[in-house]
Amino acid sequence: MSSSHARLRFNPHFASLPHYNAGMSDAEAGRASAGRGLVRLASNENPYGPSPAAIAEVAAMAAAVWRYPEGKADALRAAIAAHAGLAIDRVVAGNGSEALIAALSRAFLEPGAEVVTVAPSFGLHEIEPLAQGARVVKVAMTPALEFDVAALRDAIAAGPRLVFLSSPSNPVGSTLSREDLARLLAAVPRGTVFVLDEAYAEFRRDADAFDPLALALAAEVDFVTLRTFSKAYGLAGLRIGYALASSAQVAALMQAALTPFNVNAAAQRAAVAALADEPFMRATVATIAAERDRLAAALVARGYAVARSEANFLFFDARREADGIAAALLREGVIVKPWTEAGYTRFVRVTVGRPEHSEAFLAALDRVARPAG
Ligand SMILES: *Cc1c(COP(=O)(O)O)cnc(C)c1O
Repeated sequence: MSSSHARLRFNPHFASLPHYNAGMSDAEAGRASAGRGLVRLASNENPYGPSPAAIAEVAAMAAAVWRYPEGKADALRAAIAAHAGLAIDRVVAGNGSEALIAALSRAFLEPGAEVVTVAPSFGLHEIEPLAQGARVVKVAMTPALEFDVAALRDAIAAGPRLVFLSSPSNPVGSTLSREDLARLLAAVPRGTVFVLDEAYAEFRRDADAFDPLALALAAEVDFVTLRTFSKAYGLAGLRIGYALASSAQVAALMQAALTPFNVNAAAQRAAVAALADEPFMRATVATIAAERDRLAAALVARGYAVARSEANFLFFDARREADGIAAALLREGVIVKPWTEAGYTRFVRVTVGRPEHSEAFLAALDRVARPAG
């Protein structure tokens, strides 16, 4: 801290907070790539965009932006509740699921409370608890980059206040099976809230085969699943996510921890339309899943070890420090996400885009990196 900051008094938990890499601004990326056309494969966006019905809603409401949105997004929550087959008092909408991760941390944590998550992890599952002064215990994935269910079960049985797991996992892409999740839920003691971040649920191979919330309800576990319109539904720029909670009480605590007008009016309306056009979303998901498997095979053919993915990205061992590879790819006009977490700094996460994006990425990778062996 510089001396001009010596007089500032602030929440001490913010002094050493890890940085969340939210990607590059257009200006930064343009400078780094010397003005080449950019291929953006760092943020897991859906390049096919949202349903045309969602775009029409945003256009139609533009003249009404002088009005405040519904504070609790009642119309949207009603649509989500009907879609999920739940009572509306179990549904919370947020300004992206990132806002819901923050709300969970505000509502359930205090200095010294413990949180369990995994390594490698989604940054906000660590940053938001740390901002509340919580301690974060990270359970490493196995060497094959699967969930270490036995180690997680022990960590959960110790009774943390919150558990944050993403499945499909960001950044890895692997999933908890029904049996794995049931084993973890069986270990949850009273006083622990289990949060399953399902940002990529729509990409799961068995997306229709089992319902995590139903499993949690059967196990009588306090549980929240997080969903987002940013990934499969193609609405990342509008900022809209939601939570399904195991009880009205958990949902009410989360709602209380959100700012009063948390979700903007355009996002609320677009999300209702996107949810109603499931065929559009499913068609883009199927296209992306096929492209994911093609891209994974192309990386494997080049000798890279690629983690099993049921999401719209791949996590692979670049066999050298990933930040160097990412910088070289950027000079070729391709933006990927080098992982910076200890133990995983040779891994790159690359979003699955359109086929031409894969071709540009692979061609650039071939130019900048010859894998050893
Ligand atoms: C992208 C992502 C989010 C954030 O989604 P928003 O709804 O855009 O805030 C949350 N969790 C995981 C695991 C993600 O990958």
